[in-house]
Amino acid sequence: MEIMGIRIPTIISDNVATRCDGCGGVIEDTPWRVSVLDIVSAEAPPSWIERPRINPGPFQFHSDPSHVRAWMARRGYWFCRKGTVREIMRPVPLPTDPPGWGLCDGLHRDDHEFVPA
Ligand SMILES: [Zn+2]
Ligand SMILES: [Zn+2]
Repeated sequence: MEIMGIRIPTIISDNVATRCDGCGGVIEDTPWRVSVLDIVSAEAPPSWIERPRINPGPFQFHSDPSHVRAWMARRGYWFCRKGTVREIMRPVPLPTDPPGWGLCDGLHRDDHEFVPA
């Protein structure tokens, strides 16, 4: 549109709807952004480096942990049940076959307890 010779860019929000990476639905309110730390902990044996790299995101979800868990499950990530879904998740290499990743918020001090998401 143009007002008195000044062009005002029209903001088209309908075409850039944010979609949830968990369920694929449109996110109406503020999306919940979750990032995966792009750091492999030093605990990882060198032989585990040969695994697909994690896309650090950020990914956007409805503000419901179950949507994040659905996304993890689809990607084959495991989830540490001692943590919760937070904005920043830490990847932990798992000695599974094929090699997999577990995601944990990294806030607890004892051993992880990974379960399929
Ligand atoms: Zn969703
Ligand atoms: Zn953990």
